[in-house]
Amino acid sequence: MIQTNRLTRPDSPRPVTGIVHLGLGAFFRAFGCVIVDDAVQASGGDWGICGVSLRNPDTRDALRPQGWAYTAVTLAPDGPQTRVTSVLTDVLVAPEDPTAVLAAMTDPAVKIVSLTVTEKGYCHNPATGALNADHPDIVHDLTHDLPRSAPGYIVRALALRRAAGIAPFTVLTCDNLPHNGALVRGVVLDLARRIDPVLADWIAAEGRFPATMVDRITPATTADDIALVERLTGWHDAAPVMHEPFRQWAVQDDFVGGARPDLAAAGVQLVSDVTAFEDMKLRMLNGTHSALAYLGYLAGHETIADTVADPAFAAYVRTCWAEIMPAVAAPPGVDLAAYADALFDRYANPAIRHRTWQIAMDGSQKLPQRLLGTLRENLGAGRASPALCLAVAGWMRYAAGTDEADEPIDVRDPLADLLRRTATGGLNQGPTAMASALLSLDQIFPADIAALLTAPVTRAAERLWVVGARAAVQEVAT
Ligand code: NAD
Repeated sequence: MIQTNRLTRPDSPRPVTGIVHLGLGAFFRAFGCVIVDDAVQASGGDWGICGVSLRNPDTRDALRPQGWAYTAVTLAPDGPQTRVTSVLTDVLVAPEDPTAVLAAMTDPAVKIVSLTVTEKGYCHNPATGALNADHPDIVHDLTHDLPRSAPGYIVRALALRRAAGIAPFTVLTCDNLPHNGALVRGVVLDLARRIDPVLADWIAAEGRFPATMVDRITPATTADDIALVERLTGWHDAAPVMHEPFRQWAVQDDFVGGARPDLAAAGVQLVSDVTAFEDMKLRMLNGTHSALAYLGYLAGHETIADTVADPAFAAYVRTCWAEIMPAVAAPPGVDLAAYADALFDRYANPAIRHRTWQIAMDGSQKLPQRLLGTLRENLGAGRASPALCLAVAGWMRYAAGTDEADEPIDVRDPLADLLRRTATGGLNQGPTAMASALLSLDQIFPADIAALLTAPVTRAAERLWVVGARAAVQEVAT
């Protein structure tokens, strides 16, 4: 019989909360929570995690009957392994009770506020990294004490800490953004300055915003996964998380007062500069993930593993890496070709059902750091990059909202309406007009990149329209 209460552990001591995490999605529960749990088990410390959802109550409602404990499942090619993680101390739902979230963030015992709010949660302009002051949540947060956005919560909580004479918390972003520490610092300081310049000066002087590189492929949990956990463990977990065996976390070691868990004990690389790790991962992993997601989806592949099992795409992704590697400075001791080989094996893991549709989400927020930075360097240096240009054309075809069988695509993107209007206005006139219309969106394509991309992306779009995604990737694969 399936037990429903096996995960609740009324007798086990609850850790003291030292971290508030904004955006308690599948990834952080499969990665940050597991690593902090390992660090606490190795070295102790008051590093319980209070999760916050800035949107809906699903995770809180699923985890509350389980006493916030849940199963993390390692999906190894030779079979799954489970572990129970009980580092969460509470889960709050911000829209229901913003005051409770601010109170948690203002608790002097809380030393770190970490985030995985997705790229769009920073309310920034993806092309420049600067705060988008016209974002509706930012417009709201400028005039209300109870905020809506992640930057709004950070600024208002820091204001409360300053007023109470409490040191700021460290802001630890774990989202896939370039120079993520500097980006969140810039957004927070800009918002704070518009509210109270003295507060902004205090945050600039006392606050810390370490950059991080996070890596563990974590697909969204499905009903089949929940059934699998029941079969494996004999109990019902309403919100398990499924992840690959691999994990890598490089963290800039710059915390307020040095206060942090003993992350090194859990295998985290604490470094003075994360840039090389970040560029390698964003360009080589996330860049090819997006390329495979758009073109693989258009070719009818449901997951990344299905896509790279297709020989045309296996050759294509290796061509992408060959184009990307000259634009990546390897971190010390890393062989980029070996890194690419390891990525291929991770993508091919059939136990990981990472949907192309999930990775394709929010392309307008992802393209700049995943593909456009590489293309700017390559094309600027005269290195033609037909495989990467085809990936941009694939995003355009996808964002237009109709697949190759003329079926509608469920495009999830904060700019979805604008993208569809812009793309389909041109689509009716063919791929050349569509590419030109989309390249004119300067919140995604700064003018210098648009100028470099116009000819090669238009060429790629024309081939994509004529021969379809699978044949187009075959044409560019070497
Ligand atoms: P998820 O869908 O499970 O969770 C996303 C979380 O972000 C949810 O809590 C959601 O409420 C919140 N969110 C969404 N839009 C928001 C907004 N506008 N403002 C505030 N909060 C918002 O996704 P996930 O798998 O947990 O991934 C989240 C992020 O983690 C990714 O966007 C990426 O930056 C990072 N990441 C994910 C993976 C992965 O494999 N899934 C790997 C590395 C990094």
